[in-house]
Amino acid sequence: MWLTFPLQRSTANRPSVTRFSTCRVAPVRGLSSMKGVRVVVVGAGVVGFSTAVCIAEALPFCSVSLLAEKFSPDTTSDGAAGILFAAEFPDIPLERQRRWFKNSFDHLLDIAQSRNSPEAGVMLSSGWQIFKDVPAYKKPFWSELVIGFRSMTDAELKRFPDHKFGQAFTTIKCECSSYLPWLHQRFIKAGGQVEQRKVNSLQELSNAYDVIVNCSGLGSKQLAGDDEVHPVRGQVLKVEAPWLKHFIRDGDGKTYIYPGIHSVTIGGTRQEGDWRLHVDEGEAKSIVERCGALEPSVSRARVLSEWVGLRPGRRNPRVEREVAQLRGRRVPVVHNYGHGGWGVTLAWGTALDALGLVRMCLHEMPQRAKL
Ligand code: FAD
Repeated sequence: MWLTFPLQRSTANRPSVTRFSTCRVAPVRGLSSMKGVRVVVVGAGVVGFSTAVCIAEALPFCSVSLLAEKFSPDTTSDGAAGILFAAEFPDIPLERQRRWFKNSFDHLLDIAQSRNSPEAGVMLSSGWQIFKDVPAYKKPFWSELVIGFRSMTDAELKRFPDHKFGQAFTTIKCECSSYLPWLHQRFIKAGGQVEQRKVNSLQELSNAYDVIVNCSGLGSKQLAGDDEVHPVRGQVLKVEAPWLKHFIRDGDGKTYIYPGIHSVTIGGTRQEGDWRLHVDEGEAKSIVERCGALEPSVSRARVLSEWVGLRPGRRNPRVEREVAQLRGRRVPVVHNYGHGGWGVTLAWGTALDALGLVRMCLHEMPQRAKL
C-alpha cells in the first residue's frame, strides 16, 4: 500500500503566519529515533525539489541534502509551460495516477489561492482542449479533479472549424522559473542543504548518505543505468500577448497556447529520441503558424524568447525503491523520475509517494544506522 500524508490547509483569506504556512507537509510522528539519518536527493528540477521539500518537512529529524548539476533557471522544468493535466500511463493503476494528480492539484490550488501565488508562479487557468476527431474517452481520468470540467458547446466550438469536439475546464498553471526558487527557499527553511555538483555514479554517495533519492530526470539514463529513459524534445516560444486570457490546446498535444503570469507560452513539438538542444527556426515558424490557425492574433504578438527542453520520457514514471549494493554497502535507493510531458502536473503527488518509500526505508534500517 502506498502512503500519502494530509496537507495542512488554510482558508484562502486567512493571513499566513509565515510565507509557507498555507501548505506545509505535516511532520511524521513516531520516527524521531531516526535522528541524524542522512538522506540525499539528486536533482533540482520540479520533481527533485518537490521531493526534497516533502522529506525535509515531514521528517525534520533527518538531515536532508539536495545535490544537482543544474539549478533553476537551467533545468528542463524551468521552460515547461507547467499546465496541469495528463495523459494516462499504460502500466500504472489508474487509481495511483489519479492520486498523483489530485495530490499535486490540491497542493498547487492551495498556493494559487494564497497570498504566495505571484512569487510561487502558480495561477488558475481556464480554457479549452479541442479535438479534430471525437476521442474514444470524452472524459479523461482527471476530469473530476480539475474545476468545472464539461464538453464545449457548439457555439464555443464554432471558432475552431477544424475541430469536432472540445473540453472546457479550469486548471492550474505552475511556472517553474518562479516555483523552483520558491521551493528552494522552502527547502532551506525546513533545514535542507543544497550543493551544486554532478554525480557521476550513485556509488559516490554510498558512504556519505543512508538513503539516496534519485530525481535526476533524463540523467537517470546514466545514473540509474536505465535504457528506458529517453528524450522527448519540445520547442516553445514565449510571446507578449496580454490580451490572451484562455488556454487553447489541440488534443494531439503538439499545438498549444498557454497564457501565463508574464507572457504567453506557445508550442510546440514532441520529438521522441531527439537530443538537439538548439532552437530550430523552421519549427519556430511552424509553431507560430499552427497557433495562429487557432488564435489569429498570435501572429501579432512580439516574441520574447525561444526555448528547447528534453522531457524525461519513459513508458511509465519510475516511483519505487530498491536496495543497491554500492561499494560493498547495501544502500536503500528511492527512484522518482521519468515523468515525460507531465512532470509539473505529477511532481507533488509522486513526491508524496517517494516520501512514503523513504519512510519504509527508515523503518527497515538497522538500529545502528539510525543513531
Ligand atoms: P529536470 O527538470 O530535467 O531536472 C533534473 C535534475 O536532475 C536537474 O537538476 C539536473 O541537473 C539533475 N541531474 C541529472 N543528472 C544528474 C547527475 N548525474 N548529477 C547531478 N544532477 C543531475 N509538464 C507538465 O506537467 N505540464 C506542462 O505543461 C509541460 N510542458 C512542457 C513543455 C515542454 C516544451 C517541455 C520540454 C516539457 C514540458 N513538461 C510539462 C514536462 C516537464 O518539464 C518535465 O516532466 C519535468 O520538468 C521533469 O522534471 P524533473 O525534475 O524530473 O527533471
